[in-house]
Amino acid sequence: MNILVLGSGQLARMMSLSATHLDLHVLAYDVSTKKVVNPVTGQLSEQSLSQAIASSCAITAEFEHIPHDVLEQCSLSGKFYPGAQAIATGGDRAKEKALLDKAAVKCAPYKLITEKQHFLDAVEQLALPMVVKTCQAGYDGKGQWRVKSVEDIESIWLEMAEFLSTGTTLSPHSIIAEKMIPFDREVSIIGVRDRNGQCKIYPLTENQHTDGVLTLSIAGKEKNDIQQQAEDAFNALANSLNYVGVLAIEFFDVQGELLVNEIAPRVHNSGHWTQQGCHTSQFENHMRAISGLPLGSTTLIRPTAMINVLGQQSIPSTVLTVDGVTSHWYGKTAKPGRKMGHINVSANSLHELGEKLGELAEFLPEEYYPGVLATGHQLI
Ligand code: ATP
Ligand code: MG
Ligand code: MG
Repeated sequence: MNILVLGSGQLARMMSLSATHLDLHVLAYDVSTKKVVNPVTGQLSEQSLSQAIASSCAITAEFEHIPHDVLEQCSLSGKFYPGAQAIATGGDRAKEKALLDKAAVKCAPYKLITEKQHFLDAVEQLALPMVVKTCQAGYDGKGQWRVKSVEDIESIWLEMAEFLSTGTTLSPHSIIAEKMIPFDREVSIIGVRDRNGQCKIYPLTENQHTDGVLTLSIAGKEKNDIQQQAEDAFNALANSLNYVGVLAIEFFDVQGELLVNEIAPRVHNSGHWTQQGCHTSQFENHMRAISGLPLGSTTLIRPTAMINVLGQQSIPSTVLTVDGVTSHWYGKTAKPGRKMGHINVSANSLHELGEKLGELAEFLPEEYYPGVLATGHQLI
């Protein structure tokens, strides 16, 4: 049976790899070339989008910014998961905040901006420092401004005004201002909900970002009360969206209280560790959920860390000399900062995981793989 994934990047590729042992075959639709491809080999399929939709038992997406006509065509088939509403919510910060408010899940105080007065009101009501984000575009920290002092207001407003007036295919072009949260750390929860509304949730992941991009995740550290807060938010949001598939939620941990940063209606970079840290990875569980199969275990087998490979031509093969290490390569052309692959490392305890990160740091220079050595030290 076929599954159609909208988008043909690494997430589609890893969904495809995890689907093979379920005897499911993934077709990917590249929205820029408008071609159906094999997401592992890149080979062109002879099927058109309509044929791929007709031949698939389920359709899903690896990203939120899907052209309206494609989304509509897929929704009309009745096989699109997690559903058009979930995708629209994950792709628009204004809709996302409305969902959080409706589900009574806490997030950073915010104000929507479409004109200068709203921006000035936000400065007054939220107080500086403030983070300003485009509502409908942006990933990896792109499309954001940091307003630190009153001197920044005019120059940032000029950039925002240009954005608001240019208009691309996405409209309306609103912007959101959020209070800058003085968080202790960032964490995320990945969970999966099946077609009957049953949920399974992975252990919380602690995430490190460098220049707005995820660089390192660790799973297996969490205390029960923080895990519970994250699970409560997951259940509230997944049920509210009548969600089917894997949903990721990013949080700020502020002195033990979780505030939602954003949600991603799909498999997520901060869940890549599940490939080695759990019996059933996020990719396989997403495939299972959308195709109506029973969900797999989300219990942690071993503490696991994930290191992103950004902009490098290859992963140093020396990392494979460290016991418990697996490397994952996406087969993309290297560009500075581009997500090229990742490295998972598992151990029997957090202490041992720390030692292994220390070993890995010898092969992974700090400049390209920030935080590996320091995190290793913290865990020991
Ligand atoms: P992603 O690639 O995760 O989708 P994104 O472009 O959607 O990224 P956000 O997750 O909203 O961006 O923000 C990127 C990072 O900026 C966050 O992980 C966090 O480190 C920081 N950040 C965002 N909003 C705030 C805030 N309100 N207060 C403090 N830091 C913030
Ligand atoms: Mg985002
Ligand atoms: Mg984010």
